[in-house]
Amino acid sequence: MREFKPLKPSVFQFSFAELTAFFEEKGMAKFRAKQLWNWLYVHGQCAFNQMSNLPGSLKVFLENNFSCETPRLAKELTSNDGTKKWLFEGPDGKRFEAVFIPERSRGTLCVSSQIGCFVGCKFCRTGSQGFERNLSADEVLGQVLFAKTLLGDWPTNPQNRKINNLVFMGMGEPLFNYENLCKAVNILTCKSGLEFSRHDITVSTSGITDKILPLARDTGVNLAVSLHAVSEEKRSVLIPINKTYKLSELFATVKKYPEMSKTDRVTFEYVMLEDINDSEDDARLFAQVIKGIRAKINLIPFNAWDGSELKSSCQEAIERFALILRKAGYICTIRNSRGQDIMAACGQLKTSKRFLKLDQLQLDSVEKAVDKSNCGRSI
Ligand code: SAH
Ligand code: SF4
Repeated sequence: MREFKPLKPSVFQFSFAELTAFFEEKGMAKFRAKQLWNWLYVHGQCAFNQMSNLPGSLKVFLENNFSCETPRLAKELTSNDGTKKWLFEGPDGKRFEAVFIPERSRGTLCVSSQIGCFVGCKFCRTGSQGFERNLSADEVLGQVLFAKTLLGDWPTNPQNRKINNLVFMGMGEPLFNYENLCKAVNILTCKSGLEFSRHDITVSTSGITDKILPLARDTGVNLAVSLHAVSEEKRSVLIPINKTYKLSELFATVKKYPEMSKTDRVTFEYVMLEDINDSEDDARLFAQVIKGIRAKINLIPFNAWDGSELKSSCQEAIERFALILRKAGYICTIRNSRGQDIMAACGQLKTSKRFLKLDQLQLDSVEKAVDKSNCGRSI
């Protein structure tokens, strides 16, 4: 492991209100905070000395006291289908990942909220790694800033951007890192900065019931709930945390989410596992237990990984399952897995040593691209 070097605090740790308060406390004019915010989140400028409308003394102050860096890239992999996976390294040497999925009508960035995960779902490769630590708010946000820089997605333009869909479906359980998640979302949606709409952001959870309504109140983003089984017994086997956060309470809570968050409906995600949760009886029970909840359903073919003995349901079983839910009146889609060849698909993220040895050549070329990108440019 690399030597741990204490860093200057990140400038990305501040919400707009906190940055303004900090400037006032230091006796600096409030509008300077606004100017800095504009450089960081509208122009993606990450060199204080290039922020041309700031006075020299302020540039030196910022330089001496804050870091303006996004997470350090350790590796990039590009799939045959255009999906990109970025592996980042924190200052403690621990690694986490983000995935960019380009589609015809949108660009989705899947971000991580933790390194590893405590929940330990039986089908999830991240879960098999155990929990290592929470990501800080600036590490969460930094994944978006990094991706925007690499993709040339500055200055911020809400009408035409390469990343217009953000999903918290990478490593970790976002609602177990609640404060940092909310802070990052608050910065992402700030109208005088990155200006993502809360409707373009989805937080996926394994069902941390006591944080679901606070999420509606504090952010109003879309909610996806990883269901995967519709009886308490089966769900407790697949998602051990179901023993604490019971399905019955989860349904009662989720029912209130659309109204409280002013979103259309919640999404239930359901990994299709052969002979485990994919029978017609499971589908019928599914339709029954979610009655009264404004919901749509997304069926996910299981993405296999080395070391897991589980198998995905066949296409025919998935179609049959979907049909039963559609006949019951639900919108039910089947997820098209992307980035399979680079282990970037849902639930395959894990920072194993084997993965780290892959393809050093690609990393060298990305590092050059990052060096040449808009870090340090003037606009
Ligand atoms: N921890 C959160 C978000 C990250 S996981 C959650 O569980 O919701 C994002 C989605 O990928 C979840 O629905 C999860 O259940 C699913 N998933 C995990 N492992 C998978 C695998 N091997 N194949 C397909 N989907 C998987
Ligand atoms: Fe954690 Fe989500 Fe994986 Fe479950 S599926 S172990 S909650 S990351």
